[in-house]
Amino acid sequence: MNNKWALRAGQLTLETRPFIGGEYVKPLSKEVFHTENPANINWLAEFPDCGVEDVDAAVAAARAAFRGEWHYLSPDRRKVVLLAFADEILKNREELALLDCIEMGMPISMALANVGVAADYIQYYGELADKIYGEIAPTDQANTLAMTQLEPRGVVGVISPWNYPLLTAVLAIGPALAAGNAVISKPSEQAPSSALKLAEIAMKAGLPAGTLNVVPGCGVSAGTALAKHMDVDKMHFTGSTATGRQLMVYSGQSNGKPVMLEAGGKSPQIVFGDAVDIEGLGAALAHSAFTNTGQLCVARTRLLVHESVKDQVIELVRAATKETFTTGDTFDESVNFGPLSSRKQYERVTGFMEVGENDGADLQMLETSGQVPESGFYIPPSMFASARNDMRVAQEEIFGPVMAIISFKTEAEAIALANGVCYGLAATAWTRDIGRARRLARDLEAGRVEIRATTAPGAGLTTLSAEPFGNSGHGVLGGIRGLEPYIRLKGVQIITD
Ligand code: NAD
Repeated sequence: MNNKWALRAGQLTLETRPFIGGEYVKPLSKEVFHTENPANINWLAEFPDCGVEDVDAAVAAARAAFRGEWHYLSPDRRKVVLLAFADEILKNREELALLDCIEMGMPISMALANVGVAADYIQYYGELADKIYGEIAPTDQANTLAMTQLEPRGVVGVISPWNYPLLTAVLAIGPALAAGNAVISKPSEQAPSSALKLAEIAMKAGLPAGTLNVVPGCGVSAGTALAKHMDVDKMHFTGSTATGRQLMVYSGQSNGKPVMLEAGGKSPQIVFGDAVDIEGLGAALAHSAFTNTGQLCVARTRLLVHESVKDQVIELVRAATKETFTTGDTFDESVNFGPLSSRKQYERVTGFMEVGENDGADLQMLETSGQVPESGFYIPPSMFASARNDMRVAQEEIFGPVMAIISFKTEAEAIALANGVCYGLAATAWTRDIGRARRLARDLEAGRVEIRATTAPGAGLTTLSAEPFGNSGHGVLGGIRGLEPYIRLKGVQIITD
């Protein structure tokens, strides 16, 4: 116990019960699962693996809350509650960060920053709660008022992954609540605690009981029960493409509920010859591939680089990785490169390293600063310096700190390579050529496209609405249009004599 965070982690008592109807309740399922800290492989807690009965109880509580206070609360009151919720998140910043830190191995400094982003997001959608306008349709009859009324969908199920446990839950919970829905969250079985804490915090902020419920459990138990439930009106899923597709099957097998998918990615970053002297380029390239140990859906893990600057860019990334990333104890605030989140993830990433090597892609390990702890699923960042786009390591989502580097000769070739995967979540291109920037913005098949002539931080991530391409999913996330998946359009005619 050598620092404040380690000390606090040692004093934490994890709440493991489902949060239903405004309180922690005794689970009905007798099944259990347990969590461990991937930074030291220590056992953390045993959670109930909620099943059909627990999910039934959560859906009933959500339905009652939806029909009751929340749906009928005036939008400006809903806004006040959500703004208070954002404040409560900030007040509980340290505990929320610590929960993600111990359960998925995210360094505490990053986890703290993410809580801030989560609070911003709830605040953004809270502010929108009283700005959801319907429409009056034109009619040629003086006796008819024809309007499109915007209403919440009802009960929304949210299934989220482990890589950003708090943030991925909030990305769905924020707009769903703002639009007036009641929510049941099923966090990842690897990191369920921050979502549970979030529901507890929401009650303190004044969210009516039952409006936000959380069922810890595995995918095949709680996840399936939620996705197949006949009284859930909408699913928001964040996770792998394969599981997302399964959720669409469950929808078809149950009540045909709409399913929004935020799934996997294999995002490119393209470096043109005119960008190589951009100050801080190497650090930016390394950061966008290796942050959160590469366990980021929008990680730019395919580096497409003009052949004239390839060797130079590789050296920039190599040097910057050592300068930018510090490996070490996740409780140390100077550490920003943690372990992989689990043994399974470790085996997956090392497995892909072997695949790439066997395919002849020239695996090169990179150095970070700091000291690799003795236990934990740590792995250094690495690059395949001469990958080809048809190799598995260039096509499949590894979800670890592994970059595939591919060179190109022309802009057209760069675009073809960038689009030449089944995913389309995000893309970055580095160029100073404004004409090229506009062509890339048009032709890159990715939900979020960033064209950069500088490493200066960009604005507008929360406020931008975006929809993925291809196997990365569908449905709008972020910005004002990010409310749309949670809103039902009702056509109403009031005809008078
Ligand atoms: P996963 O698909 O294994 O699990 C995601 C969630 O689905 C978990 O809560 C899990 O319990 C649940 N689940 C699993 N099987 C299920 C089933 N049969 N029925 C219902 N629920 C089930 O994904 P993961 O390993 O937790 O997360 C990594 C993946 O998430 C990566 O592919 C990553 O790209 C993706 N991701 C996408 C985004 C995005 O915004 N597009 C964001 C973060 C992560």
